[in-house]
Parts: sequence; structure tokens; C-alpha cells
Amino acid sequence: MSDEWITGNFTLRVHGEPIEMQVTVPTAKVKPQRMLPLFQQMASSVVDACVAVVEGEGEKVSCKAGCGACCTQAVPISEVEAYRIAEIVNEMPEERQAVVRKRFAESLAHFRKIKWFDELIGLKDMAYEGSPDFSAEKYADVVTRYMKQGYSCPFLENGSCSIYEERPAVCREYLVTSPAENCSDPRPETIKKVPIFLRPSKALLKLGKTETTENWSSVILIEALDLVEKNPDRLEMKTGPEWTEEFFNALASTDRILKDDPEPARRRKKPRHSKKGR
Ligand code: SF4
Repeated sequence: MSDEWITGNFTLRVHGEPIEMQVTVPTAKVKPQRMLPLFQQMASSVVDACVAVVEGEGEKVSCKAGCGACCTQAVPISEVEAYRIAEIVNEMPEERQAVVRKRFAESLAHFRKIKWFDELIGLKDMAYEGSPDFSAEKYADVVTRYMKQGYSCPFLENGSCSIYEERPAVCREYLVTSPAENCSDPRPETIKKVPIFLRPSKALLKLGKTETTENWSSVILIEALDLVEKNPDRLEMKTGPEWTEEFFNALASTDRILKDDPEPARRRKKPRHSKKGR
């Protein structure tokens, strides 16, 4: 152990099976973006353990490189992931950056024009308020409407993710055992997802959340650059052990929430101010 890094061992239990992890984190205060590689690695370990369970029951994951069918869906990410996405784009060579930025801008403009975000937020508010007008079918319709517009994720290249190592946690968690072609219209009756117990993507939604996204349950990936451009980075600095503890606490609560409520984080907090930036 050096002065600047500290190593610890953790055990996560997924389906009662232990996943042993050794993590090395900075002792200095850092932005949560710097901790993402660790949390993404944890997300992948949790997902691998869940895949092992379904495969042990004789099922097979149908996702494979070059499919990318799920990458035309709306991708809900956290504030910290949004700021990291903006960094990733900034770090790209100029030519590539221009292509990716154009895709982000065109997608965002299109979905705003067709008022897709208004529909989504309206439904989330209904769900949050327990309105009888909310239904899972209406939610599925909004999800499908997004896909039907034909705007793939700005990072999708020839059916593969061009930021694979840094893809958001929710992308890691989306795996199916149903036929891949069914993902073009993902509905409860056509899609069989690998159940993920403990949801790193939902833990990240809480991690370091600031007033920038206080009224948002999540950021849709195509909003990331716009959000970052309009809002200074308000994410706090904390030490590696502090961020790790916060992440584990949030992760543990996703296990509890999942038992009570299958879609907790899709609900949007009742807005206290006007909708920002959407
Ligand atoms: S970030 Fe990668 S995996 Fe996630 S939707 Fe985009 S292309 Fe697909």
C-alpha cells in the first residue's frame, strides 16, 4: 500500500453466492467519475454472477457482439455517468468527436421535437403519484416509441459499442435469454431478461447526485452532453473509501427495493422546481 492508495477486500452476495473482490482506491479526495472504473468492474462481476445462475438453470444468453439491438433503446444513466460520458467525448480525436457530437445533437433535437421526454416524464410522475392512469403497457409504449424512431446510441458503430470498456452500468445489466430479434420491441411478453439482483446502475443513480439532477430520476444518455454543457460539474470530491462505502450502501438498498418494487428508480421525484433542461 502506498500513501496514495488503499486496498480492501469485499464480499458481495448474489443469489446467496459470494463474490470476493479486492479493490484499490485513492486515499485522496476525488470526483466520483474517477471511481467509475471500479464500480463498472463491480457491475460486471454482479452481472456475470447472475448470468452463471441462469446458465446453471440451462438457459443461454442470446446477446452477442455485433447485435446492438438494445442500443436503440433509451438508456437511463446517472449524473456521474453523464459527466464521464462528456469527458469521453472530449477525449476523442477531433474528427470522431464531431461525428459523435452531431449524433447526440440530432437525437436530442428529434426526441424533444416529438415531445418524447414530456411523455416519459408525465408517465413517471403518474407512477410516482400512484395515478390509475399509469400502466406498464403505457410505459412499454413509450419505450417502444423511442426505439421505433430509429436513432441508435451515438456510440454504436457497426452494431458494437465503441465505448465498451466504459459503457454505462445499465448497458452491462441488459442481457436477455429471449431471441435477440425480440429486442426491437421489448415487452414483458416477448423479452426475458437475465434477472440482476443488486443493481449497480440504480446505485449509481444515487451516488453523489447533486441539485443539477435533483428532479430527474435518471438522465437519458442522449441528454448527457447537453446537461453537462448547461450545468457546471457540481459533483463533490470525496476519498476513495468514502465513495466506495456510499456505493455499497446504495447497492445494498437496490436489493431491498427490488423485492418490494420492480421499477423503483424509473419513478421520478415530484418536481419542486420547473423541469430543468428538458
Ligand atoms: S453505450 Fe454502448 S452498450 Fe450502451 S447503448 Fe450505447 S452503444 Fe449500446
